[in-house]
Amino acid sequence: MVEPRPELSKLSDYVPGKSIDEIRERYGLKNVVKLASNENPLGASPKAVEAFHEIANSLHLYPRGDAPKLIDAIAKMYGVSTNQIVIGNGSDEIIDMVGKAFIRQGDNCVGITPTFSVYKFTTLSNGADFIGVGEGDEKATLDKLAAAVNDKTRVAFICNPNNPTGHYYTEAEIRSFLAKVPSNVLVFLDEAYAEFATAADYPKMAPLLSEYPNLFLNRTFSKIYGLAGLRVGYAMASVEVVRAMWKIKPPFDVNQAAQVAAVAALADTAHVEATRKNNAVGFEYLNRELSALGFKVLPTQANFICVHIGERAKELVSFLEQNGMIVRGLTSFGMPEHIRITVGKPEENELLVSLVKKWVG
Ligand SMILES: *Cc1c(COP(=O)(O)O)cnc(C)c1O
Repeated sequence: MVEPRPELSKLSDYVPGKSIDEIRERYGLKNVVKLASNENPLGASPKAVEAFHEIANSLHLYPRGDAPKLIDAIAKMYGVSTNQIVIGNGSDEIIDMVGKAFIRQGDNCVGITPTFSVYKFTTLSNGADFIGVGEGDEKATLDKLAAAVNDKTRVAFICNPNNPTGHYYTEAEIRSFLAKVPSNVLVFLDEAYAEFATAADYPKMAPLLSEYPNLFLNRTFSKIYGLAGLRVGYAMASVEVVRAMWKIKPPFDVNQAAQVAAVAALADTAHVEATRKNNAVGFEYLNRELSALGFKVLPTQANFICVHIGERAKELVSFLEQNGMIVRGLTSFGMPEHIRITVGKPEENELLVSLVKKWVG
């Protein structure tokens, strides 16, 4: 038999949110709403869709691997130089590239937990150990994370705001962390949901890149920009770190449809604003209604809410699915009593609330 690398035996499969088709087929339903994967309920920017249609005439051509238009647009938006930016086939691939560029066999990586599973996956698949700090729905402090760093630590993963709890860290907390850890530890901030944050002290990190050569900012077009199906993410860091990323980056990973749609989406500030507004209104409503039913709704800076249901959380998830509503049970995150709900359009949020009321009885 062809033996896979021994590291693979430690890996468990990624558990994605269930798809609309899957639930339609399983329960013979016509209408299914998915509030499980933090996609944009308003869809992609109409301008991105238009750019996507236009590129259909050039499908026979290779994309430009260096994506100059996309990288210029990102550089202008954040005031960083173009050689401080790398792109990937979704920010998942950026995490994978960090693993290939920086994590060696026998190293370790630390991270605030519970969190997005891809950090641990990448760490283990590169033969390193993952040390998670934090439990349940409490916000773990970055001081605790700093205490877990040792001389084998290569990357510290901080998801800000955190998926699935919605907790966030301020600039002061992150600066204090950066001051405590050695400068050879890559401080990986995953800002997949940053554009949704409304707190006055949610940090704008790009200006700090010039101060900290080990700071890494991961971003995506999958969430507020509504392009999850096209797969495009980007990251900003020091020139040295970014150069290492480009070395291991597959040359044509970000296809040309993704590149043109991403450029159009970045420029469509009206769509971004509409999405933020929908999110704020929807959060307010869901928070009020679910709290009134006696459930603990965690504060959030993202486009989802984390709700403590209790021992019957799994039951609720399957009741909702049977009624055409997909939410995310959090057992695979190590939070079996919680669920995560993406903030949807008003009518979707209302349907969710009416089904939860029905379940409560
Ligand atoms: C959704 C999400 C991403 C985005 O992944 P893509 O590969 O860009 O679609 C990254 N990090 C976190 C924490 C997420 O929740």
